[in-house]
Amino acid sequence: MKIQLRFSLTFIALLVLGMLSTTMTANASYGFQSQNIDTLRDYQSKRPLKNKVIVVDPGHGGSDAGAIGPNNVTEKNVTLAIARDLRELLSAGGATVIMTRTSDRDVAVDGSSDIDELQARVDIANQANADLFVSIHTDAFAEHGTGTTTYFCPGSNSDLARFVQDNMVSQLKLYDRGSQPSDFYVLKNTNMPAILTEAAFISNPKEEKLLINRDFNKKVAIGIYNGIKQYFIQ
Ligand SMILES: [Zn+2]
Repeated sequence: MKIQLRFSLTFIALLVLGMLSTTMTANASYGFQSQNIDTLRDYQSKRPLKNKVIVVDPGHGGSDAGAIGPNNVTEKNVTLAIARDLRELLSAGGATVIMTRTSDRDVAVDGSSDIDELQARVDIANQANADLFVSIHTDAFAEHGTGTTTYFCPGSNSDLARFVQDNMVSQLKLYDRGSQPSDFYVLKNTNMPAILTEAAFISNPKEEKLLINRDFNKKVAIGIYNGIKQYFIQ
């Protein structure tokens, strides 16, 4: 009887202790959870790209090399390297990134015409109902051609182009050719804000050399990324 009572008392004590510790754990985890929610809110406000669908278009590819520099650097390879860097930044920033190509290939079909090729890129962006379209190119004119340019569709809001241009210039420190309207096919035919960036001149031997430098590629991507972030925060 005594043993039984002692056993019951011990059992009750254990039960009470158990309940107490369950309550404490619940409180503790509630506290932790609410702290997590605040952190999550802060995190989201610092992630302006969350829920944004951004199409990144590395210019040219496959049968179309794009411009070729004096030392045989091809535009299609440079644009893909920059686009991959940009994809990484945008994804980390919370955006959903759709690349028009992720390897050295034509986007439409192998050897497709220029217009089919451009339309294939436009179709990807329009069908995805993307929030932004960013086409990446390098400029070509002559050996003395120099600097950074960002194009937007004439008559459309120029904010995105201006922000991206300013941020690229502050990263790259090349001659600022400004943000300019242009009726490039991909700008005219996409249904969302769209820009076409020309980070530097592949036809200029000095800038051609920069364009194959991985640190320079990353700076281009950071400039575009910062401009896009500024556009969504404003
Ligand atoms: Zn190009």
